[in-house]
Amino acid sequence: MWETEKTHTLSTYKLGLDYAKEQDQLDTLSDYRNQFHIPKNQDGSELIYLCGNSLGLQPKTTRSYINQELEDWANLGVEGHTEAKNPWLPYHEFLTESMAKVVGAKPIEVVTMNTLTANLHFMMVSFYKPTKERYKIIIEADAFPSDKYAVESQLRHHGFDDKEGLILWKARKGEELVRYEDLEAIMDKHGDEVALIMIGGVNYYTGQYFDLKRITELGHNHGCMVGFDCAHGAGNVELNLHDSGADFAVWCTYKYLNSGPGSLAGAFVHERHAHNKNLNRFTGWWSHNKQTRFNMRHEFDQLAGAEGWQLSNPPILSLAAIRASLDIFNEVGIEKLNEKSRKLTGYFEFLLKQLGEDTIRIITPKNPKERGCQLSIQVLNADKALHDKLTKAGVISDWREPDVIRCAPVPLYNSFEDVYNMVEKLKEILN
Ligand SMILES: *Cc1c(COP(=O)(O)O)cnc(C)c1O
Repeated sequence: MWETEKTHTLSTYKLGLDYAKEQDQLDTLSDYRNQFHIPKNQDGSELIYLCGNSLGLQPKTTRSYINQELEDWANLGVEGHTEAKNPWLPYHEFLTESMAKVVGAKPIEVVTMNTLTANLHFMMVSFYKPTKERYKIIIEADAFPSDKYAVESQLRHHGFDDKEGLILWKARKGEELVRYEDLEAIMDKHGDEVALIMIGGVNYYTGQYFDLKRITELGHNHGCMVGFDCAHGAGNVELNLHDSGADFAVWCTYKYLNSGPGSLAGAFVHERHAHNKNLNRFTGWWSHNKQTRFNMRHEFDQLAGAEGWQLSNPPILSLAAIRASLDIFNEVGIEKLNEKSRKLTGYFEFLLKQLGEDTIRIITPKNPKERGCQLSIQVLNADKALHDKLTKAGVISDWREPDVIRCAPVPLYNSFEDVYNMVEKLKEILN
């Protein structure tokens, strides 16, 4: 059986392939791997896929979920909106409860719609309300580029200078991870000028999982709105978005949520804003009261909750893929996944350390509570050639300039043996 969380210290792990195999046998979630298509080498053997942080693998059930909608479309045409096995008009609602569970929210707080960066903009339409005195936005210095571009363009859109209006929460010289006391210091100095704090809930580069509640309370104490991009958190860590108190959050579904390239994204709006009809927003017919939406002649009547941020009728084929994936998450439960995740990533860390701490540096936090499954690894004097060799050896990981390899052993479909084999290949390449 698993040890309890407290005993997950590196000393619990052992070296050798037998240990990895034994852990896979003890793993109560190991069968879930068979529910996914694992990409293969040309010789038919399975790749060591550690890239679920970038594109999650395809559940074998996805095809049938999508086929169902293709068939209903073929057989029913427009009638499918109401007559399909899973009627399309309310289809997005079939995802709400499972999605809410995955991100730790109430159903009224989540919706699946649009794509990630689009959702970030729509959230900022409502929650970035700059005034002449209070207009600045704080993001982490190594935020995902799309997020940085999005907030810069919001600043410009409101007539502000994007350099002057953007405050970067930076790691100290010689450090990779940002410190809360530095954010607190920024707020002490500039709190009155800040309209919005927008942070990547789990930083895509370092894998640092932030204390969302702490950041939210800090922001709120200074009168700012607070939002998170949880693209690297959803399906990876227990987000507890509701309890964090954040005003909004957004995430994608194609990373840890295994819903296919470019699939629809998620948005969270805290319950306290659910019935506020005075918030500034962009609207469309899908933001309108469902009871009268099809009368088409009514004055606009704002739909309550996160659903009220929808604009369009959503792409059903994408929703079907998300539904297939969420059904698996719903069955396993994010808590169990986390338990395995901590053990699997701890094991990965343990094995990497054997390669020598002056060869390998892990920039991801050591504390399991401050990370998800991803480890960001710096290898001494490495360049992209090392990553290319890893790829050639059948390890799918992800390279980020200047010198970081990101690997994410995903608890749903990665095994202890995957992790073991990856480190063995790395060792061979380094020798
Ligand atoms: C993956 C990711 C994106 C990608 O944005 P799309 O709009 O889905 O293309 C943006 N921000 C973060 C933090 C991400 O991790």
